[in-house]
Amino acid sequence: MPANTGRRPTSAALYEEALQHIVGGVNSPSRSFKAVGGGAPVFMKRAQGAYFWDVDGNRYIDYLAAYGPIIAGHAHPRIVEAIARAAESGTLYGTPTELEIEMARRLKEAIPSMDKVRFVNSGTEAVMTTIRVARAYTNRTKIIKFSGCYHGHSDLVLVAAGSGPSTLGIPDSAGIPISIAHEVITVPYNDLGGLRQALERWGDDVAAVLVEPIVGNFGMVMPKPGFLEGVCRMARDAGALVIYDEVITAFRFHYGGAQNFAAFPDHAAIEPDLTALGKIIGGGLPIGAYGGRKTIMEQVAPLGPAYQAGTMAGNPASISAGIACLDVLREPGVYDRMDALAARLTDGLEASAAKHGVPLTINRIRGAFSTHFCAHPVTNYAEAQDTDGEAFAAFFRAMLDRGVCLAPSKFEAWFLTVAHTDADIEETIEAADESFRLVAA
Ligand code: PLP
Repeated sequence: MPANTGRRPTSAALYEEALQHIVGGVNSPSRSFKAVGGGAPVFMKRAQGAYFWDVDGNRYIDYLAAYGPIIAGHAHPRIVEAIARAAESGTLYGTPTELEIEMARRLKEAIPSMDKVRFVNSGTEAVMTTIRVARAYTNRTKIIKFSGCYHGHSDLVLVAAGSGPSTLGIPDSAGIPISIAHEVITVPYNDLGGLRQALERWGDDVAAVLVEPIVGNFGMVMPKPGFLEGVCRMARDAGALVIYDEVITAFRFHYGGAQNFAAFPDHAAIEPDLTALGKIIGGGLPIGAYGGRKTIMEQVAPLGPAYQAGTMAGNPASISAGIACLDVLREPGVYDRMDALAARLTDGLEASAAKHGVPLTINRIRGAFSTHFCAHPVTNYAEAQDTDGEAFAAFFRAMLDRGVCLAPSKFEAWFLTVAHTDADIEETIEAADESFRLVAA
């Protein structure tokens, strides 16, 4: 299906050119329109606040937020200033800086389970390294993770479920040896039975159970009450560590992690051993971080035997942008405002879908939500898969043509930012009303 005829001729032409030089025309497969019927993605030229402008001059209200990091809105003046200041002082030293201490202190204050942190350059690196550290600490090799949760593109986490919870994984990507997949067990989210079975069979070999405490990768999915408490208890009983992947969730719902979010089920009963961070904490520049209990983190070089390094790690530009972003998020009322705007928007989407007879399930957690084209609840990956991808694709394209930019996948979330206004919500609801009418037709 051609995507960018009519309103987006320049995007269509640039895509043709990009295909000549960049594999698939994109630098991350999620940016392609493969999951929404194919064709040219939109090439953006400029972004400010809650808006994008594409190369053809079309304006879009942005709910992609670059897959999460842009919570302060695009080109927030404080972040722009912080980056400019950092650039003027030199972008990379290869030595420690005071900024890193400031950022580490802030992260520890906001997420107290981390006694020590280390900065890296992406969420992928952060998760990959927590696994290495957990393996070093426990002297075990296997990892348990949950179906549909995405943890970056390192070998161990690009492994899908085997045929049941007591079978080992199969690679999700070419180039991953089966021997590596055999170190990973994937079980269903929100189902302690699957985890129990896996631990009964493999428990003595499991270094860590890796989990998104609130799922952001097959829509937004809350853990059922008792689920995370069970994960932590069962992992510890088996002598395994618990790793929380908070790359999406940290600073998304409040100033802190999902693990210490007061509205969160079981939050008092759970504390991970290790936490992986990314996205928001870089304010839109590349970053990742991981942290955890002191005794575990002391496995990491130069103190311990687990090696992890990085030429760009903790670079002043990313750290400065991150500090400025956290400053924005620390202002009173910021999260309540995003929550209120998202509530208004999802009320409008639900009313409009119902009016047009389009089955729609919305999972909303404060300022982030997902729209599932189905009539059933979505609490795990199988339920998220069992939704109408064609209806989502039609909705996505209709919204794009009406100036609303969503992620091009039925599994991705909508993110509110500090920059969205009531007027944006009104405009989005109007666009959605016309889009649902088209989907229903
Ligand atoms: N973990 C989670 C939960 C993510 O959503 C992502 C990316 O979307 C990652 C890890 C990987 O982060 P990055 O893309 O920065 O490598």
